[in-house]
Amino acid sequence: MENRVYICSWSHDGERYRVWVRNRPTVCAEHASFVEADIELAGAICLAFGDGEGVTEYDRPRPGTSDRPGLVTVVVSVLGNGWGTEQNLDELHEGDRCIRCLTPRGARTATPLRVSGIRGGADGGRTSFGFVYFSEGFLELLTPEERDGCEWRRIERTGRTTKVYYELLGAQVRVRPVVLLPVVERLWNVSLADAAADWMAVQWCELCGHEIPYDYTFWPQRGLPHRFVDRAAVPEPMPASFIVGKQFSLSRARWQSILGRPGTRGISSGEVGVVESSLVDPSPKRVPIPPHAKREAK
Ligand SMILES: [Zn+2]
Repeated sequence: MENRVYICSWSHDGERYRVWVRNRPTVCAEHASFVEADIELAGAICLAFGDGEGVTEYDRPRPGTSDRPGLVTVVVSVLGNGWGTEQNLDELHEGDRCIRCLTPRGARTATPLRVSGIRGGADGGRTSFGFVYFSEGFLELLTPEERDGCEWRRIERTGRTTKVYYELLGAQVRVRPVVLLPVVERLWNVSLADAAADWMAVQWCELCGHEIPYDYTFWPQRGLPHRFVDRAAVPEPMPASFIVGKQFSLSRARWQSILGRPGTRGISSGEVGVVESSLVDPSPKRVPIPPHAKREAK
């Protein structure tokens, strides 16, 4: 089986990090750098399970991620690796879609999302056009506050299936990811040039104004979050759950307390840094979205 989520743990003896798959501790690696140990563990997982795309999920915070000036706290966005195809796309939004980027122009209708081909038993995933969903089992693991912080609607499934899924429709608090100012290079001793694929800009549709949030794709490999939000955009006290971009987000401690329980199969997390407003670029560079760019659950 490929693309599985492996629950891992780590220790540090003062010199070297040791990392291992929690229910198969013989699948392990060690290195002076945690990041390098994690990369070697991915190789060990490939050898042991034949899974070259395995995702490691640690049952406690990775070392050092929160320890940066101006980084107020770290939360996580969680997303499942399941996949489905919409059967009633035309009924799901008022009006038509932008002819350039395919983003719907109108509001979500009251019609339930109808999906075919949700594969495997993943407890969450997204559809071709970026609708995000989670299983009933996942929702049962959440506290009432976490569940009620977001809006859910049962998905209609076609074919012979019994598992119940809910679309993540919205949230009381929805936060946009931000672009950081170059000052973080000095503050955090990092390079913005190696943060993402090849540009330092928000992708933007010239026709309808839709924006795709900026992702620091390669920073998790350097022990940093992959996304950032402005602390001024997050209410105090922080809500039990909210949406960052399009992704369901909650505290790292809460995610780690439910990780690995039935209801979390195929779900992995990405760290989101909540930063001081002084680190946020108020007018980031924007580049046009290529026509018909695929909608991702960002
Ligand atoms: Zn557009």
